[in-house]
Amino acid sequence: MSTDPDVLVIGGGNAALCAALMAREAGACVLLLEAAPREWRGGNSAHTRNLRCMHDAPQDVLVDAYPEEEFWQDLLKVTGGKTDEALARLVIRASASCRPWMVRHGVRFQPSLSGALHTARTNAFFMGGGKALVNAYFRSAERLGVQVRYGSPVDRIELDGDRFVAAWVKGERITARSCVLAAGGFESNRDWLREAWGQNARGEWPSDNFLIRGTRFNQGVLLRQLLALGADAIGDPTQAHMVAIDARAPLYDGGICTRIDCVSLGVVVNREARRFYDEGEDFWPKRYAIWGRLVAQQPGQVGFSIIDAKAIGRFMPPVFDGVKADTLPELAQKLGLDQATFMQTLNHYNAACRVGTFDHTALDDCHTEGVAPAKTHWARPIDTAPFYGYMLKPGVTFTYLGLKTDETAAVHFGGRPSDNLFVAGEMMAGNVLGQGYTAGVGMSIGTAFGRIAGTQAAQAVRKGARHAHA
Ligand SMILES: Cc1cc2nc3c(=O)[nH]c(=O)nc-3n(C[C@H](O)[C@H](O)[C@H](O)COP(=O)(O)OP(=O)(O)OC[C@H]3O[C@@H](n4cnc5c(N)ncnc54)[C@H](O)[C@@H]3O)c2cc1C
Repeated sequence: MSTDPDVLVIGGGNAALCAALMAREAGACVLLLEAAPREWRGGNSAHTRNLRCMHDAPQDVLVDAYPEEEFWQDLLKVTGGKTDEALARLVIRASASCRPWMVRHGVRFQPSLSGALHTARTNAFFMGGGKALVNAYFRSAERLGVQVRYGSPVDRIELDGDRFVAAWVKGERITARSCVLAAGGFESNRDWLREAWGQNARGEWPSDNFLIRGTRFNQGVLLRQLLALGADAIGDPTQAHMVAIDARAPLYDGGICTRIDCVSLGVVVNREARRFYDEGEDFWPKRYAIWGRLVAQQPGQVGFSIIDAKAIGRFMPPVFDGVKADTLPELAQKLGLDQATFMQTLNHYNAACRVGTFDHTALDDCHTEGVAPAKTHWARPIDTAPFYGYMLKPGVTFTYLGLKTDETAAVHFGGRPSDNLFVAGEMMAGNVLGQGYTAGVGMSIGTAFGRIAGTQAAQAVRKGARHAHA
């Protein structure tokens, strides 16, 4: 079976696993090809924490209600209208009913931890995180008879017109009657990031200094090949979800614990020791995703988040301790910043603070006057030892370029849907999420479209069989 399955699923993350499970439940013989070795399986899905869910009343781990219309309005706002309403609503509705199916396949949920982005109402958290989720799905898939091959990066897809024929892995040709592509975005492909981001006026290649928050295996090989073969594209190659992370994070797979969440409690300076953006513009959950791009625009693509003792205990601490100093000049010296400019920036900022009633849970009245850029909320002088600094770099979460699809998850060629090639997850998320992000929606899209793609792929096998007998 393994070289001639009914349904071939390419990828080993949430979308691929949902597709494989649904196709298998529909009676198809399924082979799943995961580029990563077993110990690195699960793609970016292994780094996730939660799923955004519509619900009309309190449901196990979710409080209050999060109706369809509110979810839709949230999506409309973050995408600035770059979304397909029919597909978005399909995802939203599917998010209301998928959890019992997930639980049947071993996924467990837990309530949101306090302080976790105010998500107790909107997001269901995975017990044990995304790693436990993918482990549960792999276990269930293997129990149901899905064949899984690790260390199997597909390097080429063979098509006959717009029909899938075979996939090639290291010289081996694997045929199947239908196929689901769920191989993620291209965020791990540094050459492609270079191409998308180009060279800046300083002669730098900004993307050379980006870190990748997730898997190294999302190289976009199949995305690039399918686009070259005439598959319809969706999304912008220069768009990526990017956050500011600890510069000491590894190049790949640093995951969630390398995020630096104290920006709004202090100031951020660049390599020249100058501030460059309003750190208190809005609540951190609404602003964290712009800071990757802001840091990417700075010289050397680095920034330094500076706080004092007053901030400690008010944010989720990152995995590595900050650089600590008893005085600000000492902090500048330890961070390798020019002391005179750093002190000028900090003295200027401290003198500009107009402190009212500090409240980090509200858009408070602590602001600056007479300093550019202004800090519009939570502005308090940085004056209480010890002082801390975190060097920041841009951390890419995922890219937005993908394949155009419809409510059947079919890959489109010149506006026509393929009848045996389907796509799910990050490889098509741009249909729903053309830009921006709202926490948990990546897994909502992958779960909804993974399940659709798996069902459709199994159905395509049955249709193919009927044609063969006709
Ligand atoms: C640190 C971090 C935290 C996140 N937190 C959340 C969260 O809490 N909630 C949320 O909704 N979203 C979150 N996201 C986004 C989320 O990870 C994605 O939206 C989602 O995982 C996409 O699922 P996927 O199956 O499409 O891709 P992935 O999970 O990335 O899976 C892609 C798979 O394809 C495989 N692959 C790639 N190329 C090939 C090839 N040529 N041949 C074979 N296999 C291949 C990879 O090895 C991988 O297994 C987070 C992302 C990161 C990086």
